[in-house]
Amino acid sequence: MSGDLPDYELYAIRYATRAASRSDHFIGGDPHDGPMPMDYFMWAAVGPAQSFVIDAGFTAEVAARRKREFLRCPVEALKLIGLDGDIVSDVILTHLHYDHVGNFAKFPRAKFHLQEPELHFAVGRYMRYQRLQHSFEVEDVVGIVRLNYARRVMFYNGPAELAPGITLHPAPGHSAGLQFVRVHTRRGWVVLASDVTHFYENMDSERPFTTAFHIGGMLEGFDLLRASAPSPAHIVPGHDPLVMQRYPAPRPELQGIIVRLDVPPNA
Ligand SMILES: [Zn+2]
Repeated sequence: MSGDLPDYELYAIRYATRAASRSDHFIGGDPHDGPMPMDYFMWAAVGPAQSFVIDAGFTAEVAARRKREFLRCPVEALKLIGLDGDIVSDVILTHLHYDHVGNFAKFPRAKFHLQEPELHFAVGRYMRYQRLQHSFEVEDVVGIVRLNYARRVMFYNGPAELAPGITLHPAPGHSAGLQFVRVHTRRGWVVLASDVTHFYENMDSERPFTTAFHIGGMLEGFDLLRASAPSPAHIVPGHDPLVMQRYPAPRPELQGIIVRLDVPPNA
């Protein structure tokens, strides 16, 4: 505990990966092109009184169709840190892109926490364009609409405190209603950037990722991350394989699968 905020244990679960090139990841390409793989993560904040899952990954079916290398079901992997999708009560959705929402049905009791503009975006006028709809699975979007009709989606229009030690921060740009999450841990506030910065390098070099709705918003998102974190070492990018190298596994047998983000990184 610091002050009266609880300390959450914070985990990143790596559930998929894909081979890619540096030029895939920066608007404007990259003058030194070469391999730059991308990892896919789900996150979990385990607190003394309550736990939160952050995002919901994609399914094996979608992985096969989109030619991603599926390593494990992220919801199954929650069991490795003592959580059970069947009884998880709260899932924060940073946005509705296919790789962040696809397993929503595997949380039958959860409420889903989302910035309202993201759902408007996902059902709105721009989805007629392949360039923007490509990042969504229409069945996921319809599924979230159904959950809303079942009163299981909680909407926010701006920053929000979900619980002591868990705060939500809109940072639209990559998607119109993207948010990042701050989690209070024993090393202070850790900022889960999700797709506000896919890689450390997007933020550090101020070159946004290629999937973009509003490039100005993406650049301002980097500033918001820095302003919300005690230090750059407290910011965790959404898709960077370096996260698995910089943070330790909770147990040796989970190497390459899960790391702890509530301890300082080694670089
Ligand atoms: Zn995304």
